[in-house]
Amino acid sequence: GNSEKDMFGSVVVGIGTAGFVRVRDMLAPLPSSAAEKLSVKGFISRRILEEQQGVKQITVEDALSRDDIKVAFVCTENAAHEENIRMFLEAGKHVCVEYPMAMTHKTAVELWDLAQEKGVVLHEEHIELLTADFKQLKKDVAGKRLEEGFLHFTGGPLKPGFGFPAFSGIARLTWLVDLFGELSVTAASMEEDQQNKYMKMTAQLITKEQKPLTWIEEWAPGLSRAKDINFRFDSCTITQLPPATREPVGIFMQDLVLFSQKLLGQVPRDQLHAERRRVLHCLELADRIQQLSLQGSAQDT
Ligand code: NAD
Repeated sequence: GNSEKDMFGSVVVGIGTAGFVRVRDMLAPLPSSAAEKLSVKGFISRRILEEQQGVKQITVEDALSRDDIKVAFVCTENAAHEENIRMFLEAGKHVCVEYPMAMTHKTAVELWDLAQEKGVVLHEEHIELLTADFKQLKKDVAGKRLEEGFLHFTGGPLKPGFGFPAFSGIARLTWLVDLFGELSVTAASMEEDQQNKYMKMTAQLITKEQKPLTWIEEWAPGLSRAKDINFRFDSCTITQLPPATREPVGIFMQDLVLFSQKLLGQVPRDQLHAERRRVLHCLELADRIQQLSLQGSAQDT
């Protein structure tokens, strides 16, 4: 069994959709997986809440000072990630943060350096890479030469505190980078109608082989959550996510297992490096897209 001393006591910060799932998954971890080493000790919220799934609310001060709490899950809206990550890293706690870890590339670099200095794990969740659909898409794309690509996401409206669409939509950008390698931004623009909560961001990217990729994030009330893809290759065109059977282990649970493996030192250095590099590259692109979009809209007015 798991003796209490080799367990990673955890706190969940922010009890929204993601926070609820983190509590749920730690209460029933995948049997015989590294996630069994986590035990949820409490949650933190700006609201005063009753017990959640049998777990008690605790104060930030308590979480920071308790020796039996070694891990924080940061599940708040994006705007509050930086402050929470910094606070827990400073206290020597490991941190798992729901994407995106920060609202600028510079901040993410600082946070990662801080984690290294403190000798703790900093992990950014990427459930979008763990879906059966995406895993199949990645297999289908492997070995093909991209000529031109298009990814259009719709959803919304964008919730307050989730930031510029290039950051709130980092999962789509991460897809593109994971499928086609490191990218550059050639142009970006933004259309916004605040009264109607409408937002459309268009980013033009190119691959290392100079092949164009267009990424659009469109958010408005009533838009259903969907992704439209069109990837033209030398040999064929993919216009739909491949059908794939849903896996028995949920995507948040898969991420929890990966994070736990990192805590246990079971993830190879190369993989850790590649992940850090991908995360920072995506945030750097998001930064650039935001800059170019805002420059464009300043010129319009
Ligand atoms: P959410 O809106 O459900 O919750 C976000 C925050 O708002 C939490 O701190 C929560 O405590 C607070 N909150 C929620 N309802 C509230 C209410 N009625 N009154 C006051 N505060 C309230 O957002 P979420 O989907 O859980 O997203 C949290 C983080 O997880 C974000 O960084 C997001 O990018 C990331 N994420 C979410 C998902 C997902 O499937 N939901 C997937 C990947 C990443």
